[in-house]
Amino acid sequence: MATDGAARAGLLETRRGTIETPVFMPVGTAGSVKGIRFQELEGDDLNPRIILGNTYHLWLRPGVETIKQCGGLHRFISWNRALLTDSGGFQVWSLGDRRKITEEGVEFRSQLDGSARFLSPEISMEVQAALGSEIVMVFDECAPGQAPLEQARRSMELTSRWAVRSRQAFDRLQREHADLGRIADEIPPARPGFARSVSLPGVPSLSGAQALFGIVQGSSHLELRRESVERTVEIGFDGYAIGGLSVGEEKPVMWEVVSRTAPGLPAKQPRYLMGVGTPEDLVEAVSLGVDMFDCVLPTRNGRNGQAFTSRGKLNIRNSQWAQDQNALDESCGCAVCRRHTRAYLRHLYISGEMLAGILLTHHNLAFFLDTMRRVRQAIRSGQFREFRQEFTARVNSGVE
Ligand SMILES: [Zn+2]
Repeated sequence: MATDGAARAGLLETRRGTIETPVFMPVGTAGSVKGIRFQELEGDDLNPRIILGNTYHLWLRPGVETIKQCGGLHRFISWNRALLTDSGGFQVWSLGDRRKITEEGVEFRSQLDGSARFLSPEISMEVQAALGSEIVMVFDECAPGQAPLEQARRSMELTSRWAVRSRQAFDRLQREHADLGRIADEIPPARPGFARSVSLPGVPSLSGAQALFGIVQGSSHLELRRESVERTVEIGFDGYAIGGLSVGEEKPVMWEVVSRTAPGLPAKQPRYLMGVGTPEDLVEAVSLGVDMFDCVLPTRNGRNGQAFTSRGKLNIRNSQWAQDQNALDESCGCAVCRRHTRAYLRHLYISGEMLAGILLTHHNLAFFLDTMRRVRQAIRSGQFREFRQEFTARVNSGVE
């Protein structure tokens, strides 16, 4: 592992490939990274080694039985690289009043058909075993960013008890070979022309176990965060996530929590800041010792007409781009920036053409992934501090 200040550049070994960190993981909520074909995703422009799947969404639809029948999530969506699945805890928390939390788990009504559903640490682990992801997240409870101390404490303690139950259920499921990503021999034969083998050199087999990550909670209370780190590390996980941030708290609060929490996590294991953030946020968090990120911003904002560029955000619907012959980002070498002008992209967006969202999503993902490539390079060459200063100054200089 190379370090530069608190920033770290390392390798995350999974059974479906070695992943260079710091890494940005595109979000594939319902089994698709919205707006991007897998062929494009695997092309040189983007080429992420790991993407996310959302347990909550996939559990509700198509349902775990369908995914089991289809041989797990990799085979269902035809993706042979690594997957991380979240636990559903955050999505259930987002339901607000429509859910009821007990010691046992969370009762809620499905957003799809209003049916009563129940999610618990054990059920989340069972679903994630069936999905067969490389990295499984514990089932946690997320308190609002501004939660008062007592509420935040109850939530953190519940998360801690659920982490123990997640660990136990996970270990049992591994022993029972319930993990569908593991059973390579029982996966149905590949369709003609469909590459089944892992393309990365040096990856011996797909039979390794899933990894399980713990999640540190505690809202904006540093004392609770410290206690949550202790309890979570004591249970023991393959990696550690910092959860419950970017949920409405002020940015300085988030940075204080990250800067005080990350150094307390085991140095040799990956640290994952969940649901964060903008490209500037990623660079900032890397400087505090974070290794992994996921966020819907590049895809969601792309569909809404917003591009992330090396000079900050650009809203393509603005009339100032109507006849602009420049690329979205003159510093970006992605297929969209090589080929199309801002004027054309704006025309597509204003006309309601679906290609607008597809092209903006492609560029945004390229920009996020390329930023992380440059971050890794800078850390390895001992120039991360300079990189960060230049990157931040440029992003804040404004799009011309
Ligand atoms: Zn581009």
